[in-house]
Amino acid sequence: MIRRFLYNFFRGRNGFDQLAMTAWALSIVCLLLSFLPGTAGVVFNLLTFAAMVYTLFRILSRNVGKRAQENARYLSATAGLRRKLINLKTRFSQRKDFKFFTCPTCHTLLRVPRGKGKIQITCRKCGNRFSGKT
Ligand SMILES: [Zn+2]
Repeated sequence: MIRRFLYNFFRGRNGFDQLAMTAWALSIVCLLLSFLPGTAGVVFNLLTFAAMVYTLFRILSRNVGKRAQENARYLSATAGLRRKLINLKTRFSQRKDFKFFTCPTCHTLLRVPRGKGKIQITCRKCGNRFSGKT
């Protein structure tokens, strides 16, 4: 019965998209910072409230087309940053077996096995060669 109610309630609404998730995460960060003393705490308290209201607004909005447009704009604006975060995650999980280099010419991230001593690295994108210690 509750399931059916929730299903009907959220039908035709935007729901929890990536932008809503980001706003929600920001509200949590602001909530933690609102414990700061003085004016800073008050400002973060207000920001917590604003971010929570915006999150709810996105989830409950019935203007699905407009919200989808905003979400797509947000995703394309943060694409580079999200790729960097994924790269960092990959580097961290593979740090024991691989060493990572950035090509000095085209800045492509290159992965080489560890423990091979000083080697010549050839960039797979631009063909530039440079040496590195693994
Ligand atoms: Zn390169």
